[in-house]
Amino acid sequence: MYKHILVATNLTPEADQIGQKALEAAKKWNAKLSLVHVVDYSPMMYGGGEFALPIDAELEQNLTAEAKTNVNQQGKKLGVKEADQWIVKGHTKDEIVDLAEKLKADLIIVGSHDKHGLALLFGSTANAILHAMPCDVLAVKLSDE
Ligand code: AMP
Repeated sequence: MYKHILVATNLTPEADQIGQKALEAAKKWNAKLSLVHVVDYSPMMYGGGEFALPIDAELEQNLTAEAKTNVNQQGKKLGVKEADQWIVKGHTKDEIVDLAEKLKADLIIVGSHDKHGLALLFGSTANAILHAMPCDVLAVKLSDE
């Protein structure tokens, strides 16, 4: 049924729960798996002009390099080859949605926590992707312990 599944990983321990579900889904449908991590680093900007802080390129580079190592580790566990491991910079939801469209993925797998209080108000990555709905979306319920 699904041919190309895009797994969104935030590289925390919860990524293993999502990875397991993704692996089962890929086996069931004989689908290709791709893995994406977004380096969502936005430096604080004060009003622009002469008060704008420069983007900390070194920090961004370090974050990207570390993400690459971690995505590679997860990719190995899931049998996702390097060409199908994506590290992208920008806004998490936008980048995941854009990549799903670019790769013509037909399913995105993303984690989702029970939301309470402020977290509910601010929403979540899973919610944001569901609203954009570039293709089917599977939200894996994550236990918060
Ligand atoms: P959150 O909205 O932060 O609770 O994250 C929920 C899920 O969104 C995670 O389990 C991942 O599947 C996905 N996600 C969050 N942040 C990222 C990120 N930076 N890159 C890729 N996927 C992410």
